[in-house]
Amino acid sequence: MYDYCLVVNAGSSSLKFCVYQQTTGGPWSLESRGQIEGIGTAPVLSARDASGQSLVKRSLEGTVRDGRGALDALAEWLRSMYAGGRILGAGHRVVHGGARFASPVVVTPEIVEELRKLIPLAPLHQPHNIAPIEAVRERMPDVPQVACFDTSFHRGQPAVAELIPLPASIRAGGVQRYGFHGLSYEYIASILPEAAPEIAHGRVIVAHLGSGASLCALRDGKSIESTLGFTALDGLCMGTRAGSVDPGVILHLFQGLGMSPQEVETVLYKKSGLLGISGISNDMRDLIGNPDPNAQLAVDYFIYQTAKMIGALASVLGGADAIVFTAGIGENSPDIRRRICQSSAWLGIDLDEAATQAKGSRISKPQSKVSVWVLPTNEELMIARHTGRLLGLI
Ligand code: AMP
Repeated sequence: MYDYCLVVNAGSSSLKFCVYQQTTGGPWSLESRGQIEGIGTAPVLSARDASGQSLVKRSLEGTVRDGRGALDALAEWLRSMYAGGRILGAGHRVVHGGARFASPVVVTPEIVEELRKLIPLAPLHQPHNIAPIEAVRERMPDVPQVACFDTSFHRGQPAVAELIPLPASIRAGGVQRYGFHGLSYEYIASILPEAAPEIAHGRVIVAHLGSGASLCALRDGKSIESTLGFTALDGLCMGTRAGSVDPGVILHLFQGLGMSPQEVETVLYKKSGLLGISGISNDMRDLIGNPDPNAQLAVDYFIYQTAKMIGALASVLGGADAIVFTAGIGENSPDIRRRICQSSAWLGIDLDEAATQAKGSRISKPQSKVSVWVLPTNEELMIARHTGRLLGLI
């Protein structure tokens, strides 16, 4: 009989999952990775094994209507795929851990209540993260669960980095900079000693550039600053989120344009960023090389804003030893990496063009003052590791 750990990353319209198998005395090994996409519209279950071979691709239309239904469908597929196996634990990605959760926790009913209190701080993500925790508790009550937070890795930042300079009475309600993408940054920090030992204890700026995008300043593997703040709206330009905007613009949306809170939320989270600038797409692949001037402006702004913030983080660190690119755009677009590095050349970056094209992990020349790396992130493995450790499984 085999023992497994299930990792769940639930969003508003998708439920991503990974199944890890426990190897005797060793680390978790990936068995399968998949998702149920299109929840609420045209749900489809798909999964691949560790080598990338398809295990299933099946429409769930008519059977899955919401997140709970998706979890039922996943449980059924798991039972058929891993018949006789035991799920020893389930680890969940939870976007917001507030000020209290500075590390992952074993889930109890009291913890779920605490996580609910944080819904106003992440209304578009937190409810979807909590739903599968409750569904597992109802349907698989014997499976212990661990919540892993996107904010935890950033706790311990200096007070000035966490501060939002509003009156104390407002700050007392939890208004502070939290930072996100923490599981991605924690994973990168965890592999640096092996992947890039010469920078592991130095000043490293990690660029998590995916459909959500942010930067994190690491000193000796610890987060000391990041570009996302109170919510996942701050900082860099993202697929559908604007990143930093003058707060006066938000007042204008309410007072000048008479928008409702719901409309403002939709503009800020779903209609801005690459999509808002280009009017074409939120996907970088549709914009790179697109002759439409608005597509070019979107790419230019993405690069401009990222390079500008790299400068800010380099200043916080008192200089930089390395830049690490990760996530969808960071791992897969040599073009965007090159242009960001060109804009940040003043830091002392000397790119190795051949290495960039070859997808090598170090893409700067040996003499480059600041080394540049491409390191694939793995948030799910980070969750599996936390789950195994907290449940005493590994
Ligand atoms: P993530 O959120 O990390 O899964 O990243 C998803 C995003 O990565 C997509 O929306 C694309 O914009 C981007 N992406 C993936 N592959 C490429 C590529 N080859 N070139 C540019 N962007 C890419």
